[in-house]
Amino acid sequence: MIKITRVNSINQPYIFCDICGEKITVAGMGTALNEYDEKGNSVVEVMYAHKGNCFKEAEKRLTAKYGSIPQWHELDKFLTWLLQNSGISPERLRELAQDDM
Ligand SMILES: [Zn+2]
Repeated sequence: MIKITRVNSINQPYIFCDICGEKITVAGMGTALNEYDEKGNSVVEVMYAHKGNCFKEAEKRLTAKYGSIPQWHELDKFLTWLLQNSGISPERLRELAQDDM
């Protein structure tokens, strides 16, 4: 899940692992798992998990809940798609990153 932490009056959003509850601070070490509705069209649930044991547990839980093996994506690729689908261009992303410096 996504949460915003507040440290020294500064808001810091993070993705937290839905299994162990810890922050995923290295996107290359995280995954986003998803299931679809019965028609196979809409994503009905997304879980975030560290690779390794957390991923295995997330896959097990989603399989038990929906009866099929979930799809999964590398978290860095998933976040890139999310930015693209939110209309944030690479140029805008660079502008936003510079605003925070
Ligand atoms: Zn974890």
